[in-house]
Amino acid sequence: MEIIFATHNKNKLKEVQIMMPENIKLLSLDDIGMNEEIPETSSTISGNAAQKVKFIRQRYDMPVFADDTGLEVLALHNEPGVYSARYAGEHKSSEDNMELLLKNLEDKRDRSARFVTVFALDMDRCQTLFEGVCEGVITKTYHGDKGFGYDPIFMPNGYDKTFAQMSLVEKGEISHRGIALKKLIAYLT
Ligand code: IMP
Repeated sequence: MEIIFATHNKNKLKEVQIMMPENIKLLSLDDIGMNEEIPETSSTISGNAAQKVKFIRQRYDMPVFADDTGLEVLALHNEPGVYSARYAGEHKSSEDNMELLLKNLEDKRDRSARFVTVFALDMDRCQTLFEGVCEGVITKTYHGDKGFGYDPIFMPNGYDKTFAQMSLVEKGEISHRGIALKKLIAYLT
């Protein structure tokens, strides 16, 4: 089976590819030559995932799935949440986002946070959502050089290392994306 994963993010693609069964062939947006900007204007994570899928599905007649992820920090009233990608502003880097988050948490005792991922799938004109949540804490400094985004400052509960200190397989076992993806794979197979 061939299915489009609506992302240009090579890190996300690697994380998903490594968990997919061999009989499911993933096509990224780069693979299908899709370079149009996909709108992400919803105020919710699931709304954005569904919006991405709908946009691609209108242009390609095959199964499509997309994910959207947010980092919710308790002491910041669940910010940055749906704005995680542009927390420090439009066109800012992950380093800028992490720096701002560490600054905003400087005087907070509670550093608990959670990642939420929602995958939206459109298959046979039917849309289904799959959610994964990973609880943890925001560390005080950066640890590790693997992964992407906020990985160097997110330590999942029960571990003494951040996502950026884990292998792809180790992260996939426990991460928000891994948990949501296991549900999606179970649905597809
Ligand atoms: P999006 O799902 O690509 O919109 O991601 C929103 C923001 O969360 C971006 O800044 C990503 O870099 C970050 N992000 C998404 N997934 C992860 C992850 O697994 N670890 C760390 N940061 C992530």
